[in-house]
Amino acid sequence: MSDRLILKGLTSDDYMSDADRWALKKLKAIPLLPKVVAKFFELGLDRWLYCYNMGMSVRCGPNQYPTLYNILVESCEVLDMPIPELYVTNNPFPNAFAGGVERPYITLRSSIIETMNDEQMYHLIGHELGHIKANHVLYFSIGFLLYPLLDILGQRTLGASDIATYALTLALFEWSRQAEFSADRAGLLVSQNLETSLDAMIALTAGPSRLRHELSREAFLEQARTYQGAAPLDKLGQAVVFAVIGKTLTHPMPIHRAQAMDRWVTNGLYSKTLAKFSHENVARAG
Ligand SMILES: [Zn+2]
Repeated sequence: MSDRLILKGLTSDDYMSDADRWALKKLKAIPLLPKVVAKFFELGLDRWLYCYNMGMSVRCGPNQYPTLYNILVESCEVLDMPIPELYVTNNPFPNAFAGGVERPYITLRSSIIETMNDEQMYHLIGHELGHIKANHVLYFSIGFLLYPLLDILGQRTLGASDIATYALTLALFEWSRQAEFSADRAGLLVSQNLETSLDAMIALTAGPSRLRHELSREAFLEQARTYQGAAPLDKLGQAVVFAVIGKTLTHPMPIHRAQAMDRWVTNGLYSKTLAKFSHENVARAG
């Protein structure tokens, strides 16, 4: 039995970052969005993605990768949510993702299992569960299929429609980046240990390595602080990194995410969130 705190009654509001909330509001205000969402469902793309994923992966269960399945079950208990399906697929680039609007699932790439230990997997699976619980999957799927959907809707032609398309693309990718900060918090709520969550982020950033024992959490955090405070990144640097490169990134830079997790803990909001539920658990135990 683990001594992880069960967060009975947790809602996505408890871990949603302000930036995520803000970006989602902005995204929902884009007039083209409902049209794209309707087309996504009309074409049955959610089911298509689900079937494609299942066809390409091994589904975990009590008799298939029980270690991973048990981490999933316990993580769902902590976040107080239904258990989605869990898959593993062969891929040398370590990562994981959540999919399935109607039937949610998490897919782990094989190399992430080599890159992370079990405790770090709690963070990773907690992160993906955080996406599912916060209903991020619909807009992620839309983002994944955005260009084909826009093609079908005739929105990718030269002309007046371009501005609407550009606004939607920007808002979707901006929200997608901000959603990661919320999901990282969910990962932390499952790992219930900042060091573990930071190590998971380092593992994801550095990738598998025979020299993993030489990785330093302190040096990584120090790097995050240096990155934030770097003078060349003021104004012009930020404009280049975020406005030009960042536009096409669906994930914020890992170093930025590490800093955000660290800040959520140091500003006391993490322990405040846990404390909200610890009383309930004491009551349940009594
Ligand atoms: Zn994510």
